[in-house]
This record gives sequence, C-alpha cells and structure tokens, in this order.
Amino acid sequence: MLRPLWTASEAAAATGGRVVGDWSVTGISIDTRTLQPGELFVALKDTRDGHDFVPNAYKTGAGACLVSRQIDDVPALQVDDTLTALEDMGRAARARTDAFCCAITGSVGKTSVKEMVARIFRSQGHAHWSVKSFNNHWGVPLTLARMPEETTRAVFEIGMNTPGEIEPRSLMVQPHAALITKIAPAHLEGMGSEDAVAIEKSAIFAGLESDGFILLPSNDRFFDLLSQRARDYAPKAKLLTFGDYRSDAFVTASECDGVSTRFDLSVQGETVSVTVDAVGEHWGQNIAAAMLLATCSGISAEDAAEALSGYTPPEGRGQAEWLALPEDGKALLVDDAYNANPESMRAALAGFAQRPANRHLIALGEMKELGPDADKLHADLAPQIIACNPAIVFLAGDGIKPLAEALEGKVKTEWAPNAAGLQQMVNKLLTDGDALLIKGSNASGMRTLADALRTWS
Ligand code: ATP
Ligand code: MG
Repeated sequence: MLRPLWTASEAAAATGGRVVGDWSVTGISIDTRTLQPGELFVALKDTRDGHDFVPNAYKTGAGACLVSRQIDDVPALQVDDTLTALEDMGRAARARTDAFCCAITGSVGKTSVKEMVARIFRSQGHAHWSVKSFNNHWGVPLTLARMPEETTRAVFEIGMNTPGEIEPRSLMVQPHAALITKIAPAHLEGMGSEDAVAIEKSAIFAGLESDGFILLPSNDRFFDLLSQRARDYAPKAKLLTFGDYRSDAFVTASECDGVSTRFDLSVQGETVSVTVDAVGEHWGQNIAAAMLLATCSGISAEDAAEALSGYTPPEGRGQAEWLALPEDGKALLVDDAYNANPESMRAALAGFAQRPANRHLIALGEMKELGPDADKLHADLAPQIIACNPAIVFLAGDGIKPLAEALEGKVKTEWAPNAAGLQQMVNKLLTDGDALLIKGSNASGMRTLADALRTWS
C-alpha cells in the first residue's frame, strides 16, 4: 500500500472545502483517460468541463473527486472553484516539504533542461518533476500538488503565452534556484516584442527564496536586462551563469560521431564529460545549464555528469532513429517535430548539418504565433538551409511560402498545403543513406509525418 499523497482532512485544510467521506488518495489526475485507481480526480473547467467526467472517474476507481458541485454519496471534496483549490493544494504541498525546488523558464529548451535535471535528481534520492510541458495555469499547481512530502529535490517547468503568467507561478513554486534557458522570438503574437518576452520571463525570480540562486545564460543578448531584473527581484540571491567561457558552466570541447556527442565541460571549476544521444551545440548549452542547477542543489559535478550520460532528447526534440525503407536500405530520421520557432529552427538545422549522410533532406512546417514579422522570420531561414546543402526541402503550409520563395532557384523544394500532403512525396524521394530532418510548430502537424514514416516500412 502506497503512502497516501493527500488525506481528506489535509485537502480540506488546504482548500477550505467540504469533505464527503473519509478518504485518502495516492496521486492526482485531471484526465480520466490517464487516471489511476486510488487517485484524486480534479474536475477542472478547461476546453471541456471536467465535471462531465466525474462518473467516469469513479468508475475508473478514483479515490475521490475534487468538484464544485454538490456530491453527497461518494468520496469527494466540494469547493467553490476547483482550479483555486488545486492552487491551494499546490501551495500546501510546497509548504510541507523540505525539498530543494528549482524553476525553469525560457523561450526554448525548458522541457529538455527540465528532463536533464530530473534525471540527475532521480539518481540522488526522492525527486519530483513536471510531466511533459505541464507549465501553465493548471500544470504548475498540479505538479506542486502531486509533490510527495518526502521529496528531496524538485524541478518545475514554468511557461507563458501572454504577459503576467510567470509571476504567480513562480510565487507558487517559491524556488530555491530559478533558471532562464534563453530568450527568443517565441509567442510574439501574445507578447509583442522580444524585450517584452525577456521582461516577462524574468518574473521567474519573483518567488525566489531570498538566499536562492539565479541562473542565466551569459551568451544571451538579453543578459544585461535579465540580470538587472533578477537583481531587482532578489538582491541577495547568488547570480550564476552558463553558456560561454566567462561563465560558471560552459562547454570546453565536443566531439560528435553523427548520432551522439561527447561534451567536455567546466562546471564551477570542475572538469567533466557527458555523452548524450543528441547532436547540436544547443545541447551543450542545455547540459551546462542542467549541470549548474544540479550543483546548486548540492550534487557534485561528477555525480551529475555520470547521471546525465546517456540522456536522449524528449520525444520530438531532435532524437535520431533509423527507418527501415520498404525497398531495402535505411534512412536516418531526426524527429524535431514537437515545436518550432526561429531559434529552435536554427539550432536544429545546425545540428542536422553535422550528421553524416549521403543526402540531407529537410521537411519543415510553419512556425506559428510569430505575429506581424512572420513572413520575414520564415524567409530568414533560407541562408542556413542553403548552408546545409540539402538535396530536397519539403515545405508544408501557406505561412511557409515566403521561405519557399527565398529558396527558389537555390535549392530543390517541394511544397504541400499541409503535412499530410508531403507524405507521398517524402515516401517517394527518401532513399538509402539519406538523413531527414522533420520540424515545425506543433500546430503544423509535422509530427504526423514522422509517425507515418515510422509505420511505413
Ligand atoms: P514549450 O514552450 O513548447 O514547452 P520548451 O521551452 O519546453 O518548449 P523544448 O521542448 O525543450 O522547449 O524544446 C523545443 C524545441 O527547442 C526543440 O526543437 C528543441 O530541440 C529546441 N531546443 C532545445 N534546447 C534549445 C536551446 N538551448 N536552444 C535552441 N533550441 C533548443
Ligand atoms: Mg516544454
């Protein structure tokens, strides 16, 4: 029998809600499709009203449901607003643990770095971390509320689409260490400018413990702004940097065999090596960030490097796999289709160019949410694509047409209105020894192209 995560009386004390029955739960879920028996089901009102799924939750074996409707005959906690109650439980979970808590934000690389840190933390005791990209108004409180009391180290991803979202999440997490991965033109539609993105991201320091750690990328063009904002929020905190040779953690050398890369690093004066199944300079930057965060939590650089070795990127962030082709032979698929903005596009293209192959093929979907400069930001990718010397560039979507125009006459391109439209062309043109990079914003659906290729042979 697992130790309960929450008892009815603890949840009632945290939320001020009305308890029905005497229950305890071993976990928390907001989705009946993934709910495990014995968990608390939280009926959130999001795209659908979670209350519609309450009967299903009990059928699946929910230990109790957190609802804002009257329930009298089954274990439940009734509150005025379920999201507010989840936030209250998150704060209570944070207050009852002695865990060293870390918060990560940035325009790219949050999940990649968070997964690295979680891997290191797991190797050293009771670790807790955000699932996937659970970084929003429900993801952060859910992750907090799920944190077991005995946790020793925890890492939280914090994200945003519009101004004002980071600060309340940071105040909830109250991190001992807060890290910004990088500022880039992402979510410009909601934010207006990159300056506004940088200012918003710096609100990650709003909830920092007064003697905590600030971790910033020294090679970011917003470094001065970020460090000033960090100082304003947390004047007594210790500022550490990662990225280039002036910083506390940086890559000193790297060697890539086309599939994995060994990075040599200097971390707080220690020299260590980490080999990961990833290719591209940005992975070195992410490793430096993760290692620095680990050392802030009291883990030695040596132990952190050992735990991190063998890391593979999260799904769709540039992991490579061999595809067996129907007509004999194999091709290397580099699946970076989880998401895209100009920064991650550039990082992915630079890494892809390092992979040896007979021919390099590139399949790109649109980058969404780029606001009024979207056409230019697409066209601006052309020089770097040309530098990869690709045999063919497949492009999907209307928004990517400016890039097709910029490549015209320089590189062979194939265009389709959407990702599905590219599939047959890719199937026809992919041959033995090719390497294929697939990338695009989540909403561009390029992931479906990668999935189709996996089941193709
Ligand atoms: P989201 O906001 O969607 O949650 P995220 O910030 O969590 O994104 P990841 O999921 O880690 O970011 O990565 C998104 C994309 O950015 C991937 O294509 C990944 O390869 C790329 N990426 C990861 N780290 C960096 C980096 N340091 N610089 C540039 N690109 C990066
Ligand atoms: Mg993420």
